Amino acid sequence: MSVDEGDSARAERMAFLLGLRQRGLRDVAVLRAMEVVPRPLFVDPQFREHAYEDVALPISCGQSMSQPSLVAKMTEALNVTAEHAVLEVGTGSGYQAAVLAQLASRVVTVDRYRTLVSQAQARFDVLGLRNLVAYVGDGLLGQPARAPFDRIMVTASAEEIPSPLIEQLRFGGVLVMPLGLQDEEQSLVRFVRQQSGDVCTEIARVRFVPLIAGAAATL
Ligand code: SAH
Repeated sequence: MSVDEGDSARAERMAFLLGLRQRGLRDVAVLRAMEVVPRPLFVDPQFREHAYEDVALPISCGQSMSQPSLVAKMTEALNVTAEHAVLEVGTGSGYQAAVLAQLASRVVTVDRYRTLVSQAQARFDVLGLRNLVAYVGDGLLGQPARAPFDRIMVTASAEEIPSPLIEQLRFGGVLVMPLGLQDEEQSLVRFVRQQSGDVCTEIARVRFVPLIAGAAATL
């Protein structure tokens, strides 16, 4: 018996979720968030057939979106709950921010490219996500006007955690970010800001595009 397109799309989504579980995702709330946010909406049309594969994909402005299992791992490591205000640096496609918005009270995401921010905001509007706003800006400076944040996720690498981000993180707050050199393997860290002394642990080896200072002059 042949299945119609609706059924095959559903089957693809089920396989996607099963794949995330097989790659180690255990957090039910994160799994649910990734079930709810349709990754195809965030993928450029030419790559849409790969939307449910566990691969990083190119997006506009020469950037890329992470593979879903890494989005899952980073989201799980951030331990977001419904009371949290979250900052994401590196909006890109908007996919990671939309997943965070399922878990948090409110999410602010910032990217240096106007093109990416307006595409992402249009996707948030399609999904009716009212607790999520995208801004153009330099994420190295954080978002002082909207700080403090309970959680911060940075989806581009730097050699060290930018100090404005630490200052904008509440005590007890968690920041997840790749640290290391551009074009080399980097260390994905989970940083907890504590009055008694910050704690930083490695959770994976990764490769991300670098943070570049300043909002982009073009695009
Ligand atoms: N989280 C995204 C992928 C991010 S790719 C997603 O889910 O699709 C990394 C992003 O970081 C790129 O879009 C890049 O433009 C952005 N970026 C690099 N330097 C930045 C900076 N200084 N401030 C804000 N965004 C920056």
